[in-house]
Amino acid sequence: MGAFLDKPKTDKKNEKGGSAAFKYATSSMQGWRVDMEDSHTAKIGLPQLPQWSFFAVFDGHAGSKIAEYSSQHLLDHVLSHKKFQNFVNNGEQYDEMTDEDVKEAIREGFLNLDVKMRELSTTRNDNDRSGSTAVCVFISPKKYYFVNCGDSRGFLCRDSNVHFSTEDHKPGNPLEKERILNAGGSVMIQRVNGSLAVSRALGDYEYKNVESKGPTEQLVSPDPEITVVERDDNNDQFIVLACDGIFDVSTNEELAEYIISRMELHDDLVKVCNSVVDTSLNKGSRDNMTMILLTFPAAPKPSQEAKTREEEMEKKLKAVVHEICSEVKDEPLDMSALMQNLAARNDIENLPPGGGVFAKRCVVDAVFKEYVGKTAPEGS
Ligand code: MN
Repeated sequence: MGAFLDKPKTDKKNEKGGSAAFKYATSSMQGWRVDMEDSHTAKIGLPQLPQWSFFAVFDGHAGSKIAEYSSQHLLDHVLSHKKFQNFVNNGEQYDEMTDEDVKEAIREGFLNLDVKMRELSTTRNDNDRSGSTAVCVFISPKKYYFVNCGDSRGFLCRDSNVHFSTEDHKPGNPLEKERILNAGGSVMIQRVNGSLAVSRALGDYEYKNVESKGPTEQLVSPDPEITVVERDDNNDQFIVLACDGIFDVSTNEELAEYIISRMELHDDLVKVCNSVVDTSLNKGSRDNMTMILLTFPAAPKPSQEAKTREEEMEKKLKAVVHEICSEVKDEPLDMSALMQNLAARNDIENLPPGGGVFAKRCVVDAVFKEYVGKTAPEGS
């Protein structure tokens, strides 16, 4: 495919912010891909809706235009919907909006944005064929509105469990497949027409041209799935929104456990996000990676016990790496073989849950570097 670099681009972009009610941080990394096609949005306090917030991750494919435009304009399309505007104009409380009102505004916001971007691409006539997933959460004083279109994912961790997760829209899912077949398409190798790996997305207009079908009946649909979850401020710990570059290599539960273990070490959310992204790369992710982490007052807190445990684990890990490296005499040391060797051992206690030794690659690297050159053949 030629879509990968020789070496991953590992520099990360971060944002952070917060209010009394919650804090957030973001991390994104290009990784092995030739282009960075992810975008995201993070807004605490919406225009005319100071009590509401909005977060979203967009994973672009075949280009970044749709993902980028969506990250800038999806929110406007939802907020300018008459259901929201009625409340603004009447000076009513947003609490009085029903869930159905909010869902209608979000859904139509998605569909309107999709129409708008199609017009723009037609006007530009630049042959842009890109598309994008979208996973978002609107947070009101009492509720979370999880919104998903595609195969990025969001989940809520409550009381150390994954309480809610969005479902990925894959072409092989029975309902998705039914729609695709009804629109005259096919599903092969789990892809729409053997090509696109996601069955709902913004953009992707070449899959939205069946004249006898409406906008949500096409091979690829921009229709978001929306789930309302009541907030539970005593037990809600955090929300994660991330693209498949993160979820390809970790389950929801692994990621939740890993994040909890990192938050027990320090309260720097940027650091937590970056360590998820680095660990995902080390676990073998070849995709662009973007993650947003939102934490609530009940989120895990750093403890001395967890810090001590981590320090002892690192000490043991270093000792094991020294032992392995010093035994290698005749052949050049190989980092990936070393990582596999370490991953297969069970004598290093308290490696981070959900990450294992791959979460500690920097520790392994530091020791490894002391040996490289000592054993490698000359000139290599
Ligand atoms: Mn992706």
